[in-house]
Amino acid sequence: MQQYFIKGKLEQGKQIDFDKEQSHHIKDVLRMKEGNIIRLVNEDREAVFASIFYRDKEVYAICNEMDPNSNDMKCHVTLCVGLIKKEKWDYLLQKCTELGVGTIVPFESSRTVVKSKDEKVTKKQERWNKILLEASEQCKRNSCPILVEPIQFKNIIQYKSELNCIAYEDAKYIGEKLKDCLQSQSSITVVIGPEGGFDQSEVNLLVNEGFHCISLGKRILRAETATTYVLSAIDALVE
Ligand code: SAM
Repeated sequence: MQQYFIKGKLEQGKQIDFDKEQSHHIKDVLRMKEGNIIRLVNEDREAVFASIFYRDKEVYAICNEMDPNSNDMKCHVTLCVGLIKKEKWDYLLQKCTELGVGTIVPFESSRTVVKSKDEKVTKKQERWNKILLEASEQCKRNSCPILVEPIQFKNIIQYKSELNCIAYEDAKYIGEKLKDCLQSQSSITVVIGPEGGFDQSEVNLLVNEGFHCISLGKRILRAETATTYVLSAIDALVE
């Protein structure tokens, strides 16, 4: 069943009109027939099942019953991630969305190879948001992750949650296991470094701000693997 995010109130019997892109997708890409059922979600995370109709080649939907289920994570996870190379970054955005991330905060740090000024941020931001929207529709979330414009490492402290962790693989640090920190938090911030990892001074800065230094196990994971590991672990341990 296809899902679309739309704006406005959802209630039984209401007619929903689609924007150009959604209409094209329904009519020309999926070639949906009258009576096909879709799931619609609005900005208040309400969901409804709806039937497709056509009038003079224009497609619209009529809302049926509300869908009481929410497919979002109960715990809001904010992932602060060092900017990594394009194709890996696109993959990271898509997988973190499927795994329930709440907010993604890209950052530049001493060892990030990719600088947010490399390409016009707005153009990049648009493409990134499209990846998040498509992944959210595909996995039937009740919300799209929030994507923040890239920040400098030192500003991560503006994105603190109830529980705050920095994933650091340096053997000298006896990092706690993620499960040791997790209780029944409503919100968690996890910081994951770029391909080149963290400078010790960066780890110290966050530890001094009350961040737990956590280990993600004995192997060194790529940034895109570390982010999916963290979200999977939180889902398994907290949800
Ligand atoms: N220093 C790493 C190396 O030696 O290859 C490079 C950084 S790693 C590719 C990217 C990020 O994933 C790290 O900065 C860290 O945040 C996280 N990470 C990877 N493996 C980890 C582990 N075993 N424990 C904790 N964090 C890990």
